[in-house]
Order: sequence, then C-alpha cells, then structure tokens
Amino acid sequence: MPQLLRVLILEDEPTDFELAVRELCREGFLPAVLRVENEADLRHGAADFVPKQNLARLGSSVRRALNLAAERARRRRAEEALEQREQQLREAATDRERLSRQLQATLAQLESVIPFCAGCQKIRDDRGVWNHVKSCVQNGSLAALGHSLCPECAQRLCASTG
Ligand SMILES: [Zn+2]
Repeated sequence: MPQLLRVLILEDEPTDFELAVRELCREGFLPAVLRVENEADLRHGAADFVPKQNLARLGSSVRRALNLAAERARRRRAEEALEQREQQLREAATDRERLSRQLQATLAQLESVIPFCAGCQKIRDDRGVWNHVKSCVQNGSLAALGHSLCPECAQRLCASTG
C-alpha cells in the first residue's frame, strides 16, 4: 500500500521534476505533487523541506523527514499532556490550600465558642472546669459564648421542674 504524500517540488526543469516524481513512486509513495519554479512559492504551506542532493537518495530523505515530523508531533503531544497534568496538579494544590484555610477558619470559630452556663453565668474551660465569668474576662480567654448549663444548674433545673 503506497504512502500518501503531498509534495511541493521546486524544479524549473520539467524532466527533472518528472524524474523526482517517478523516484518517489518507485520508493513506495503516492505523491500528490505540485511543481513550483521559484523559492518564494515554497512558502505556501510546506511543513517540511527535503533538500535535493541526489535523486537516488530522495526516497530515504523524504522518509527521514516524515519520521522527524512524526517524532516532533509525538514530542509535542507528550509536552501538551505534561503541561495539562501540571495544570491539574496546580489546581489541586490551590483547592487543597483553600480547603485548609476554610478548615482553619471553622476551627477558629468553634474554638471561639465557649460553653456558658445560662443559669449561673459560669464558663467551662478547656479542662472541663466551670469558672466564674469574671476570671475568664480577666484572663482574656473570652471570645464568644455558646449557651449551656453547668452540672449544678442542670441539677437545680431538673429538681425544680421535677
Ligand atoms: Zn450554672
């Protein structure tokens, strides 16, 4: 099965052009050929260039150029995939940082809510001891109060309603 090939040949001699086309066919290519006579016309969409040295080496030169182009395309795809992966990792890191900040803010909020007895206005400290509100205000540990009942007031309330 011949390999399809779009070729732009810079050749001012029609016979040399025909020879080049025949050589490409002999090398197993099915060339879609366009002949141009001056170098300026080569700029029209040629992706790769194979300098003409020796007609016998035309096939291998074309094959080498095709392999290099394929290799470049493979490398470009690999680089794009890598770049995409790096972008995903950067986004994941940003998400992690955002979640961590949210978590810290939530923890700070929870820490600032101090159990406060609605009955006697005592406050439970982080060791579970109920202290008078005055001592907490004095040592500056008072941030926000969460309403609660200390065990004594809870007992008193139960006794009075029971
Ligand atoms: Zn109390």
